[in-house]
Amino acid sequence: MALIKDILRTMDYGPSPEGSEHVRVWLKEHEGGFGHFINGAFTKPGDLFDVFNPATGERIARATQGSPADIDAAVASARKAQAKWAALSGFERSKNLYALARHVQKRERFLSVLETIDNGKPIRESRDIDIPLVARHFYHHAGWASLIDSEFPGTKPVGVCGQIIPWNFPLLMLAWKIAPALAGGNTVVLKPAEYTPLTALAFAAMCVEARLPAGVVNIVTGDGATGAALVAHGGVDKIAFTGSTEVGRAIRKATAGTGKKLSVELGGKSPFVVFEDADLDSAVEGAVDAIWFNQGQVCCAGSRLLVAEGVAEALYAKLRARMANLRVGDPLDKSTDVGAIVAPAQLERIQRLIGEGEKEGLEFWRADDLLPDRGCFYPPTLVTGVEPASVLAREEIFGPVLVATTFRTPDEAVALANNTRYGLAASVWTENISRALEAAARIKAGVVWINSTNMFDAASGFGGYRESGFGREGGREGLTEYRIADEPKRKPNSAKPAPLSASPGLVPAGEIEHGYLDRTAKLYIGGKQARPDSGYSYAVVDPAGREVGLAGLGNRKDVRNAVEAAAKASSWGAATAHNRAQVLYYVAENLSARADEFARRLSAMTGASARAAEAEVEASVRRAFFYAGFADKFDGAVHATRSRFVTLAMNEPWGVMGVVCPNEAPLLAFVSLVMPAIAMGNCVVAIPSANHPLSATDFYSVLDTSDVPAGVVNIVTGEANALAKTLAEHDGVDALWYLGDAAGAAQVEALSAGNLKATWASGSALDWPKAEGREFLRRATQVKNIWTPYGE
Ligand code: NDP
Repeated sequence: MALIKDILRTMDYGPSPEGSEHVRVWLKEHEGGFGHFINGAFTKPGDLFDVFNPATGERIARATQGSPADIDAAVASARKAQAKWAALSGFERSKNLYALARHVQKRERFLSVLETIDNGKPIRESRDIDIPLVARHFYHHAGWASLIDSEFPGTKPVGVCGQIIPWNFPLLMLAWKIAPALAGGNTVVLKPAEYTPLTALAFAAMCVEARLPAGVVNIVTGDGATGAALVAHGGVDKIAFTGSTEVGRAIRKATAGTGKKLSVELGGKSPFVVFEDADLDSAVEGAVDAIWFNQGQVCCAGSRLLVAEGVAEALYAKLRARMANLRVGDPLDKSTDVGAIVAPAQLERIQRLIGEGEKEGLEFWRADDLLPDRGCFYPPTLVTGVEPASVLAREEIFGPVLVATTFRTPDEAVALANNTRYGLAASVWTENISRALEAAARIKAGVVWINSTNMFDAASGFGGYRESGFGREGGREGLTEYRIADEPKRKPNSAKPAPLSASPGLVPAGEIEHGYLDRTAKLYIGGKQARPDSGYSYAVVDPAGREVGLAGLGNRKDVRNAVEAAAKASSWGAATAHNRAQVLYYVAENLSARADEFARRLSAMTGASARAAEAEVEASVRRAFFYAGFADKFDGAVHATRSRFVTLAMNEPWGVMGVVCPNEAPLLAFVSLVMPAIAMGNCVVAIPSANHPLSATDFYSVLDTSDVPAGVVNIVTGEANALAKTLAEHDGVDALWYLGDAAGAAQVEALSAGNLKATWASGSALDWPKAEGREFLRRATQVKNIWTPYGE
């Protein structure tokens, strides 16, 4: 045994393993393998796969590979239970969630140990972070269950939710998925990751103990094929997915056109920005939590260290000293800082990426520590001198590897931070609050932590910008994903697009015939009228087939020019909401002044009666007024999260939005879609009604006279679905609304998988006179949560 005087000299920790006997007994009881959890009971074990302890390599359990038939049974069970579950009072549902929270709390130690054995994460983390957050999530949503009717009026549950989760926070991700779904009146079929199904199965047993009604929660284990079967199942109303961007993309494509609601929380390459006035010792501790927490297998890990040149060497020195003290080893040891990588395949992935970095000649530093001689371990690693183009700065390594780059100015820091296709999180370190908030505002990420990192709470939304996905989890924002409008089923859009080559056929644009002054409506791009790149126009005809005018036949090039013009106008998003409101009021005023002319045009194009056309113009003026009024009132929130933190939820514009209008209500639909988008600070590329585009092209003279800055609204006329295709494929478009036919909606969803832009695509008709409100503004924004600590 070590002598106390020796311990005092070396200050080494002795081993302090957490007892795991109770978990091992439980695993032994299930030696024959686990079945699925369907309709409130476990099925017989079927085709089994092995589950390993990554710290030792030993097999600890076997679970059943879910087949399409298993998914069928689970979905049927969830469907059967859903109506009854939704019909319970909020209070009844709340009691069920409360019971789950209490059961998690009662079994905190068991669950922590099981999670550590299954995943390899240090017991300190599963015990102090994962499992307490699981309980917190169920408590928080027990609250929402009883508040749902009063806080989400006019909505109803989505129905049956298919949920697919990764292996990095197995039970926590389960809680993030199941708690809001249940609170919202939905039932679920959840597929845990193949590497880490055990805490989900333990949770299933707790659902029985807590007397959750059968069928409300169903758990089917298996691999990616099981997940794909769940995604493809026709009985599922919503898919919620957390995992890699690659699989997120496949799921976006698979659900396109199915009407399934979708939220995806994907990968990241989050910046950890250290300014020169940062408290470097705090930043070092922050970096430990940012990249060595959970072995760096964290979607929002601060994996890119961006440090001011002047303090870089000092910071690296402190980091190296701290790394030398990190203990890598037995995850069940209470003194372990860094545990095991989840599986050999993940370890190989880390090694492969590091190998590529080595080929680039980067500088690596690792603590001179021996790794355990068995199991899946990788040492904490610091890589310096990394150029933004390096593979290590671009790819999600998903391991304990911090890559460092220096910057000279705050502008450069922001530019580097945003130099990624992801946008999940960012951490900003400075003692200057003004600089911190400026950086937080400018960095494109769904969560920004100031002088802190990896802070989570059930009351705050979490989710990404850009290719880190869309949708939020947690708080009010997350719950919105599990509710839909409670309204009668909508009819499909009725007005079928006419073939654009209708009489008199395609004509060269701008041709001036003898005695006829051409009135071809041009496109409107960057605040200027523009001839279509094709050089052609198409005839706009009335219901009797008579030509009432010509519109430009826009093509891909025109859309691309319009997107470029919209991107250049991005300062619109930074204008004060009051300024934007004034501009929108002005639009309404100018439209009102020309009401008669617009009504005549509508009648001529659509054949509407003079009265109906006047009513449409009047409704459009009101709608512009409505959004002018809302421009400075769609507030964010301050979430009640952790003590000594102000967690600001800011509604931010997407940036460049595509807006494809239906054929119906050509003026009102256009105004109803474009106004909320620009009220929130987006710049828009609008494709007006293909059959009746002239109200929209007349509208640009209203925009011109209303101080709408150039590029904020761009209008490209032509074949809606062809233009929508280019918008959906364009990486410069951040969000896309498409209201047309079902085939067009499916196309938009499938093609948006490229940059994972958020879409609202529908082939259903809206009731345009009523189509206004917060929901439009919510869809026109994304929420950024900024965590700001206070106190000395
Ligand atoms: P995946 O995205 O493959 O897995 C996430 C979940 O999706 C798992 O349950 C998985 O099942 C399931 N799945 C896999 N393929 C499909 C499919 N076609 N349809 C439906 N579900 C599917 O992540 P990996 O586990 O393979 O990790 C690979 C990389 O992804 C990591 O190195 C990391 O970069 C990133 N990642 C990001 C996460 C995040 O939180 N953002 C979390 C996990 C990984 P199964 O487990 O059986 O494969």
